[in-house]
Amino acid sequence: MELTYHSPTRIIAGEDCIRKYAVELKAFGSKALIVTGASSAKKNGSQADIMTALGMNAQKYAIYDRVPPNPTVASVYDGAALAKAEGCDFVIAVGGGSPMDAAKVIALLAVNDLPVQNLFTGPYGGNILPLVCVPTTAGTGSEVTQYAIVTNDGAETKSGIGTPLFFPRLSFLDPRYLESLPRNTMINTVIDSLSHSIEGIISTRATLMTDTLAVRGIALISECLSQLAEGNLSRLQLERLLLASSLGGMVIANTGTTILHAMGYSLTYFHGIDHGRANGLLLASALEHVGLTRPDLVRRILEPLRVNSLHTLRIKLDTLLGEREMIPQEDFQKFADKALASKNAANCAVLPDRSAVISMYESSLSVTPSPQTGSSLRRANIPFVVLEKYLPGEFLRVIPARLRNVPPGHTEIPVEFELSPGFDPGARIPVSWDGTLHGFVHDSDQLRSVFSGVMADGYARRRVFLNDWGDVFLLTFENGTRDREIEYFVTPTEVRALFRSCRIQGEPSDLR
Ligand code: NAP
Ligand code: FE
Repeated sequence: MELTYHSPTRIIAGEDCIRKYAVELKAFGSKALIVTGASSAKKNGSQADIMTALGMNAQKYAIYDRVPPNPTVASVYDGAALAKAEGCDFVIAVGGGSPMDAAKVIALLAVNDLPVQNLFTGPYGGNILPLVCVPTTAGTGSEVTQYAIVTNDGAETKSGIGTPLFFPRLSFLDPRYLESLPRNTMINTVIDSLSHSIEGIISTRATLMTDTLAVRGIALISECLSQLAEGNLSRLQLERLLLASSLGGMVIANTGTTILHAMGYSLTYFHGIDHGRANGLLLASALEHVGLTRPDLVRRILEPLRVNSLHTLRIKLDTLLGEREMIPQEDFQKFADKALASKNAANCAVLPDRSAVISMYESSLSVTPSPQTGSSLRRANIPFVVLEKYLPGEFLRVIPARLRNVPPGHTEIPVEFELSPGFDPGARIPVSWDGTLHGFVHDSDQLRSVFSGVMADGYARRRVFLNDWGDVFLLTFENGTRDREIEYFVTPTEVRALFRSCRIQGEPSDLR
């Protein structure tokens, strides 16, 4: 067996660890450049803790707090100019992946004259200001990696700069800083970390060491998924998620990420989708492709996740991700070419070809069909469920437009079916029809059974979406927070059968 494993960053973790271990900063230098984003580090106490610790050591500091999410080239040169002007001899990054990545490049540029045209190519000098990281998201693992990801407008993507110089010397992990994360940012960053561990397993560079870390990282995340979805994580869970994020970082520091990350970069660059969310949208489809030839790798991932199929994983991810973005279908060809040309592609244990990459995009996003080709969405091997089993036709009736906003009563729950234009329901609907079928489910127990206990008590208005996927319909039940959380797949025949058995209500005076 031949393998290399490298993880040189010292980690100090625990509540209030910065102040408890302030003395560890002493040897780093006399003046720090604190690198942060615009505001979060000030609000969650992390910046104040660092300033206190530096004060305890009589160390000075300057602050660069203008790192935007997805750091720009301009921001890293600005930060380096400030480090030079202020005579800083070490750098402390406080924040999510964006400030940590920016700080790495700032630490490099502060002591190297690297012209902007060589920023993404190197060569990178033999020296860099020593770096300390304080992550305040549980996602990137940047606090233990040698990578910095910077928006590369020249190549219309985000590019990774990787050099062993970028390994932080020390990272402080304090879960208290995560408490201020909004639910969506928390979800997106945790999905990023999950995707790092998963991509480590499907990388050609996976080893026993990285698999061990990745499996443990996935298991820690899996234990927190339902509270993550509810936005109700305990301090202990935040601590676990922070450690899982560093485990994911140690994994990708050794395996690299795969084409999944590279595919996500285009969603971020061209459509502004958060980095972790972009990975999450693509994750299930990417694994479906891997599973075609390497089901053993998929099993290695599903086991610690404690889900028994990729279909279940997709449903779990949908609970976290909510509605998927609409992306014009013609974009996917350009995105696929960029992803396949990336360095990350070389790490894939199962490398998809161009058409597979395009279908992965198609099955991961809501697609605006291109006018020439129409929708080419198809999903294979999806278990069909008979619609009536879940929503019997006799419990649904079509109601006229002017009665659609009737508030839900004890026995009536409004539902809406949204159908693609041109779908023929195979039933006579005696009201002007806008492609949406509005109705009432009359038996709340019946609808409750549809949600299999997932739905909280107290009904709000809920919608049921029926999306035309070509030869199959995707039926999605939306929960009270507008996250879509349960999906079924039904055939057009089943949909038509349902519509035929609906009690069609014209302009009934009895409903007024
Ligand atoms: P981020 O871009 O650093 O931050 C996202 C948002 O979250 C910002 O608005 C930030 O506010 C806010 N935020 C951060 N911590 C917070 C807290 N504790 N409470 C409330 N708000 C908080 O997010 P990220 O997902 O951690 O980093 C993403 C970047 O990392 C991407 O550029 C990605 O490509 C990169 N990445 C790097 C690696 C690596 O190995 N180096 C790996 C994966 C991803 P402020 O701006 O005010 O701080
Ligand atoms: Fe990432």
